Amino acid sequence: MRVLIVEDEARLARLLALELEHAGFDTVTATTGREALDRSTQGDFDCMLLDVMLPDLSGFEVCRRTRQMGDMPIIIVSARGQVPDKVAGLELGADDYVVKPVNSEELAARIRAVARRRDLVNQPDLRRYRIGNVVLLPEQHQVLVDGQVVPFTPLEFRMLEHFLREINRVQSRNALLDAVWGVDFAGDTNLVEVTVGRLRRRLADAHSDATIETVRGVGYVLRSPPQ
Ligand code: CA
Repeated sequence: MRVLIVEDEARLARLLALELEHAGFDTVTATTGREALDRSTQGDFDCMLLDVMLPDLSGFEVCRRTRQMGDMPIIIVSARGQVPDKVAGLELGADDYVVKPVNSEELAARIRAVARRRDLVNQPDLRRYRIGNVVLLPEQHQVLVDGQVVPFTPLEFRMLEHFLREINRVQSRNALLDAVWGVDFAGDTNLVEVTVGRLRRRLADAHSDATIETVRGVGYVLRSPPQ
């Protein structure tokens, strides 16, 4: 696997490169934000390790621009470990956020994890549903938002899968009861409302593009986001 190390501190860049190469990765180092952007368009990298405090562009800006160009996995490696920094990085599309000083074994494991998730999402013969930044993999029983696995309860998962299968088609409460709980389930439609509420919260907390709308007097619908 090829890793692009973006780090302006020469000693740290060298150390990271040595340790990752020892762990079996090929590495290329960029020492500025602009060099990182140039390199990332040239080479085919499995992951970018991205420092935040760079001499020209900030790592966050590099992250934002890289995300506009493609879906290369990005791990931000920063001395800044505050929650707002992490949130900012992840919202700009980073796949993971690691605080310095880093342990190279942990970093190697995280690189493999983000690369694996990206492969999973892009695997051509895999059945999946996609809406905006949300991908649902029925066979893996996994939901990814921006490439990150988000935990869903089995009920929420079945409901989301049903909404994705019936995208843009309004679902009545009874249709949802049948599809999610089973035809013979003599439940009441409050269950549907409660579960829709949970599913909405879960999707919102993960900053997903998918929102479930209420259609007054009819039911609910998951609409594809505007292009
Ligand atoms: Ca730096």
